[in-house]
Amino acid sequence: MTDDQEFIKNDLRIACADAVELVTDYLDDALAPRDLDDFQVHLGLCEGCQVFVDQIRKTVTLTSQTQDLTVPVEPANMDALFAALDEKRTD
Ligand SMILES: [Zn+2]
Repeated sequence: MTDDQEFIKNDLRIACADAVELVTDYLDDALAPRDLDDFQVHLGLCEGCQVFVDQIRKTVTLTSQTQDLTVPVEPANMDALFAALDEKRTD
């Protein structure tokens, strides 16, 4: 089991915590090519982060529609999403 986990970890390239930090830049198209590559590989393999990006994207889209601006993700939203992700991971 430990070997499998190591393998998965390497395959994901970056930790979920790092991926989460890249999300806002990713949605802003502001990632460096190397970060973008790592992020996309991670996202392709990590269901938790896919859900997270989806939630953030919906949040940003909803807010953008009303204000017609790129709106930063609110810390309050982030906390709720982190909590939701943690619940998902306890399995
Ligand atoms: Zn992840």
